[in-house]
Amino acid sequence: MPSKPFYITTPLYYVNAKPHIGHAYTNILCDTFARYHRFRGEEVFFLTGTDEHGTKIEKAAREQNKEPRQYADEMAPHFKDLWKLLGIEYDYFIRTTDEGHKKAVGNILRDLEARGEIYKASYKGWYCTPCESFWTKLQLVEGKCPDCKRDVQELSEDNYFFKMSKYQKWLIDYIKSHPDFIKPEIRKNEILGFLREPLEDLCITRPRSRLAWGIDYPTSKEHIVYVWFDALINYVSAVGYTTEDKRFKTYWPADVHMVGKDILRQHAVYWPCMLKACGIEMPKTVIAHGWWTMSGAKVSKSRGNIVDPVELCKKYSVDAFRYFLLHEVTVGLDGAFSEDLLAERYTTDLANDLGNLWFRLVSMLDKYFGGKIPDHSAKAFPKESIQDLLKKVTDAMSQYDPRTALTAIFEVVTLLNQKIEEKKPWVLAKDASKKGELGDTLAFLAEWIAHIAVLLLFLTPVTAKEILKRLGLKSDWILKKENEFLTPFLKPGMTMERGSALFPRLDEEKIAS
Ligand SMILES: [Zn+2]
Repeated sequence: MPSKPFYITTPLYYVNAKPHIGHAYTNILCDTFARYHRFRGEEVFFLTGTDEHGTKIEKAAREQNKEPRQYADEMAPHFKDLWKLLGIEYDYFIRTTDEGHKKAVGNILRDLEARGEIYKASYKGWYCTPCESFWTKLQLVEGKCPDCKRDVQELSEDNYFFKMSKYQKWLIDYIKSHPDFIKPEIRKNEILGFLREPLEDLCITRPRSRLAWGIDYPTSKEHIVYVWFDALINYVSAVGYTTEDKRFKTYWPADVHMVGKDILRQHAVYWPCMLKACGIEMPKTVIAHGWWTMSGAKVSKSRGNIVDPVELCKKYSVDAFRYFLLHEVTVGLDGAFSEDLLAERYTTDLANDLGNLWFRLVSMLDKYFGGKIPDHSAKAFPKESIQDLLKKVTDAMSQYDPRTALTAIFEVVTLLNQKIEEKKPWVLAKDASKKGELGDTLAFLAEWIAHIAVLLLFLTPVTAKEILKRLGLKSDWILKKENEFLTPFLKPGMTMERGSALFPRLDEEKIAS
């Protein structure tokens, strides 16, 4: 039986503002894992999209004298445009205003009502509009919203509630018995800590009188579905839950829900309870990544749009931006973003190490062998070392750790530059009796670069494809068996294209601006 497709999701992004570095990071992570699983020959379904309902969207639209739908229609393309620029190869872009999604939400609510999982009650509480959160008196901090410290309004209204509290014990047991369900460990412990307090039922509607922009509650004209309840359902509605059974069976459960740590509670508490109540299988893993913080407010103030991903990609290239985000922190931890650090990594790791390695290799091949792969002995192929790197990279990727994968690859790049210094091919070239050794040395370097480029296909795809193209090798690699990778890719006489600098020197003036 063929294995289930690898199904990975990003959160749905709220369209009340344009995408920033945090959105870019989540999608780059998911794209990297999606590419990696495609590379391993698996079918992949990579889902992203936009969350378009709720008070904040309605408010933002009204401020611009627009209908919420028109506003959402104008905002959603900003996300699609950024994914295009960043080379994010998603399979489907869902919008919570899609008819299919709305239908699935209605079906789930009717089903939950039929199962006795929903009841209607009067709700008294304090509401924070910017946060769209209800708080109990105990939760308020000095009478204000505990999240944003703003003023709250006291409200009493009839609403529908999902019986979430009854799943508390089950959820704690589930999390404890499924060690991979919430990653990393620190976030899992946070959720278990939260679950030590009594879990309340979830208010899943808002009165239409207060919020008109949302999905209609199926059995009451006076109510709109709470935006989080609606949005979470996208993960199953996108693969046909209640609308295309065969498709749903093919893709569900999701392998990975990638989320920011700020929305882990919705994904690791609400969502599993909702699924359990519907009798749907749990997703395999919810990964909470950290935040990018600005190191030193000064830097951001003086440089204005410093964290605009579009600007950063224009200045440094898409792959440099991607390399920085994947390499700088381990998934799950917070990272300090600074453009200075990005510029430094660009220069040291990408331009000086990888870019220079390529340049030295092609220069020497040009000079000593007319730009062709020289005759060389079989021992020029470093099979064992390549196997070792492959293992490090695949182990790291299966642990959702692209940082370790990149580190392992770039350690080899450093070693190869050292090898050039040790072997001194320019000295070998002066001695006719050393021609064989010279050929072996350059073939060894070329094979390494070719194999590294293949491993970079899912990490820095633009650069990887460019190197493979220059070497005259295919870039649509699918690695099903290790042995396909542990063979020489280059033959004597093959020509390579020198090309321009892979990572051109940064223009100092441009960077400082
Ligand atoms: Zn608030």
